[in-house]
Amino acid sequence: MSQKETNNLKTEEPKRERTTSAPCGRLKSHNVNGVQEGKPVAKDQFSGRTLGVFTSGGDSQGMNATVRAIVRMGIYLGCKVYLIHEGYQGMIDGEQNFKLATWTSVSGIVGLGGTVIGSARSSEFRERSGRLRAAKNLAKAGINSLVCIGGDGTLTGADLFKKEWKSLLDELLEKNELTNEEFENNKFLNIVGIVGSIDNDFCGTDMTVGTNSALHRIIEAIDAIVTTAFSHQRCFVMEVMGRHCGYLALAAGLASEADWIFIPEHPPEPNWEDHLCKRLQYHRIAGHRLNIVIVAEGACDLEGNPITSEYVKKVISTRLKIDTRVTILGHVQRGGATSAYDRVLGARLGSEAVLALMMSHDESPPFVIGISGNQPCYIPLVEAVERTKNVAKAMANFEFRKAIELRGASFERNLETYIKMSKLQPKLLVDDSSRHYTLAVMNIGAPAAGVNSVIRSFVRQAASIGCTVLAIQDGFEGLAAGLVKELEWKSVYGWTGIGGSLLGCQRIDAKKIGFGNIAAKLKKYNIEGLLIVGGFEAFSSVLQLSEQRENFREFCIPLLCVPATISNNVPGSDFSIGCDTALNEIVTICDKIKQSALGSKRRVFLVETMGGYCGYLASVVGLASGADQSYIFEEPFTINDIIEDVRHLKEKMKSELKRGLLIRNEMANKHYTSDFMQNLMSEEGKGVFSARANIIGHMQQGGVPTPFDRNLGIKFGNKALVKMIELLNKTARENKLTEPPYMLNKDSSLVVGIRRSQIQFTSVFDLVEQTDFEHRLPKHQWWLNMRPLIRILGKHEAVYKSEVMTKDEDVEEFIEDRDEKEDEDAATLY
Ligand code: ATP
Repeated sequence: MSQKETNNLKTEEPKRERTTSAPCGRLKSHNVNGVQEGKPVAKDQFSGRTLGVFTSGGDSQGMNATVRAIVRMGIYLGCKVYLIHEGYQGMIDGEQNFKLATWTSVSGIVGLGGTVIGSARSSEFRERSGRLRAAKNLAKAGINSLVCIGGDGTLTGADLFKKEWKSLLDELLEKNELTNEEFENNKFLNIVGIVGSIDNDFCGTDMTVGTNSALHRIIEAIDAIVTTAFSHQRCFVMEVMGRHCGYLALAAGLASEADWIFIPEHPPEPNWEDHLCKRLQYHRIAGHRLNIVIVAEGACDLEGNPITSEYVKKVISTRLKIDTRVTILGHVQRGGATSAYDRVLGARLGSEAVLALMMSHDESPPFVIGISGNQPCYIPLVEAVERTKNVAKAMANFEFRKAIELRGASFERNLETYIKMSKLQPKLLVDDSSRHYTLAVMNIGAPAAGVNSVIRSFVRQAASIGCTVLAIQDGFEGLAAGLVKELEWKSVYGWTGIGGSLLGCQRIDAKKIGFGNIAAKLKKYNIEGLLIVGGFEAFSSVLQLSEQRENFREFCIPLLCVPATISNNVPGSDFSIGCDTALNEIVTICDKIKQSALGSKRRVFLVETMGGYCGYLASVVGLASGADQSYIFEEPFTINDIIEDVRHLKEKMKSELKRGLLIRNEMANKHYTSDFMQNLMSEEGKGVFSARANIIGHMQQGGVPTPFDRNLGIKFGNKALVKMIELLNKTARENKLTEPPYMLNKDSSLVVGIRRSQIQFTSVFDLVEQTDFEHRLPKHQWWLNMRPLIRILGKHEAVYKSEVMTKDEDVEEFIEDRDEKEDEDAATLY
C-alpha cells in the first residue's frame, strides 16, 4: 500500500485511538458552538477565505513555527493568509503592514527564536480610537478572521476587539469610511488565540509556546554555572523570568537539583532565612561543593514583600560566609533556537487554529487553542483570561493555595514533586521496627539521556525511608558477574544533569543470561525489588522474569520497568526517557545541515535517524525541522512515492528554495536504504540538485538531558519507588512479616508510563496484547496522528483531521475519567 493510501486510511478511520486527551486544567474544553465537526479537511476546501495572523506582546521562541504552520495550513486549505506585521500597532498603522503570505514567506523560520513578523506593545490599541483605525484597515483588506499569538494582554485586547467589532463597523459606515460592500463582507470578526509566552502563566493550557525553549536556556545557563561553582565551592543565586508565575523557576529547580527555589505562588515560611541557611549548610555537610538557589522574578514572602536575588545573596553570604554570586538571566531566556517541543507545539496549535477559524460561524465566541495532556484543546478565551486574572487576585489577597490550584494540575504536580524531592534526607536507622527493603536498579538497552535522573530520584527516596539500593552495573551481564554495589544518598549527587548511563548498560535481556543465573544472584544479594530502566529489553526482561515466577521464587518480587530509550517504543507509555533529548539533538543537527546548503547549492539531504522500527524520531524530527518528507516503517511507501518526492523536490528547486530535507528512519524499508535513496535522488535529480546522506548514528544517544527528560526521570523514579514499597508492604502485611515478599500477582510486574497527562502503572501481562514483538513496537502509537501534518507542512497532500476532542460525550468522558483519577498519582509532561 502506498504512503498516501495509508494516510487516507489512517485519517478516515472512524475510531481513532486517542492516547492523550483534552480539557485543560479545570477549564472545560469546548466544542465552541459546534465550531469543529471533527471531520477530515482536504486541500483547497476553504478556497476564497481570508485570514490574518499577528504576534503581539513579548516575543517567545516558537512563535515563528506557529506562524509558519498557520500560513501553510491556510494556503493548503485554499485561503489567502495575511501576515500582519508589528501586532496591534501594525493593524492601526495601516495596510503597509499587511503582507499576503506565500508558501516561501515562512521558509527557514521554523527554528528561529523571536517573531519574524515583529511584535509590539500598542498603547493606541487600548483606546477605542485605535481599535477603530485597526478595524477600518482590516475591513478594507477583507480580513475578518484572525489568529492572535501573544500573552493574556493580547488575548484580552482580542476579546474586546471582537465584542466591539459591530459597533466599530457601524461607526465606520456611518462616517463613510467603509463602503457598504466592505461593511457587509466583514460584519463579523472571528478570533482564535494561541498563547505565545515564555512565562507559562496562562490558565487552561499545560504549556504556552516558548516556555520549553526558555527552560532550555535556563538549564543551559545553570549547567554552565555549575562547573565554575564547583571549582570555587560557590553558591549561585539565579534569577529567572516568569513575571508573577513561578513555572520556569519551579521546572528549572527540579531539573537542576537546586537547593532552594523562591516562587510567587508558594512563599516561604516567615523565618525562611534560617531554613534556607540550614538547608544549604546541610547540603555542604552532605558533600555538595556548590549551591544553586533559584529566584523567580516575582518571588515574594507571605506578606507579599518581594524577595530579591540580592537579598537572598546577602542572607547567604553574611550568615554562612559562602562566596555567593547573583546571575540574572534576563532576556537570554527569550532568545536562542526554538526547542523541538515548541516547534511541534507551534505546528500543532497553528494548524488547529486555522481549522477552527475556518469552521467558525458568526456567533462563535473567541477561544484559545491550548494543549492539555499532550492534546490540542479549545479553551473559551473569556473564561481563561478571567481565570488567569484570578490567579493574580488570589496572590494579591495572599490566597496562595487558591493561586496554585488555579494554575492547574500541571503546576500543582510539579510543585508537589519539587517539595517532596527537596525535603528528602537520608534516614538514620535507629528505630528499626519497620521493614527496610533491599532494592536493586539496573539499566539495560542503549544509553538514553535522563536515565541517571530516574536512578537518582529512586535512590534518594529509598534512602529517605531507610531502604538500601544496590546498583547493578552493565545490566544482567553485570549481575551475573557480581558487579553490584550499594548506591548511597551521596553517590547520586549531580546525576540529574548527566547524560548517558552512569551504571553502564548492555543490550542483553534476562533470557540470554539464563534465569537460574539471575535467580542465584538475586538470592545472593537478598534483592526484594528490582527496577529495570531501559528500552524494549527492559520491558521484555520484566515480562520474562515474571513468566518464570513458578520456577524461581526469587522472581516473586516487585519487578518494575521505567521506559528509557530514544526509540520511544516501549508499550505502556506515550514517552520514554531520552527521546526528548534525542529529538533536540537531531533537530539541531538538521538545522546545521540545512544551513550548509544556504545560497544556491540546490542540494537534497537525507538524514537517517535511529529508532529501530519505531518512526517516532523520524516523524517528530520531520515536523520540528521542517522536512520535506519523512519515511517510516509504520507508514509503508513504494518506489512511486519516492519518485513522486523527487518530482516534488525538482519543483521546489525552481522556487527560491534551494534545499530539501528528507528524514528516514533506519528501518523504514529493508530495500530502500539510505544509500539506495541517495543514489536514486542523485540520479533522478541530476542537473537539478545533488543529494547527500547523513547517518547521524550515535550522536542521537548523547548530550546532556533536556529539562523534560530530567523532570520526567525524577517523576518516574519517584513513582516507581513509591509503588515498589506499596507492593512490598502489602505483601509483608499479608505474610505477617514472616516471609519474604513472594509475589505471583500480575500487578507486581509493571511498566511505569505516562498516558494522557498521568503517570500510570500497567502490568506487563496486560501489555502483551498491545505489543508487536517482532518489530518491538506498541501496536498503537499516538504520534501517528501527526503524520498528515508533516506532509501538509512539507507541501504534500494529506487528509488532516483535527486532533481536538470535540464531541461533548468524549469531553464528558474525559472529565469523568480525570476526576476519578484526581486523587491518584498524576503528573503532567512538563
Ligand atoms: P506578554 O505575556 O509577553 O507580556 P501580552 O500579550 O500579555 O504578552 P501585553 O503588553 O499585556 O502583552 O499586551 C500586548 C498588547 O495587547 C498591548 O500592548 C495592547 O495593545 C493589547 N492589549 C493588552 N491589554 C489590552 C486591553 N485590556 N484592551 C485592549 N488592548 C489590550
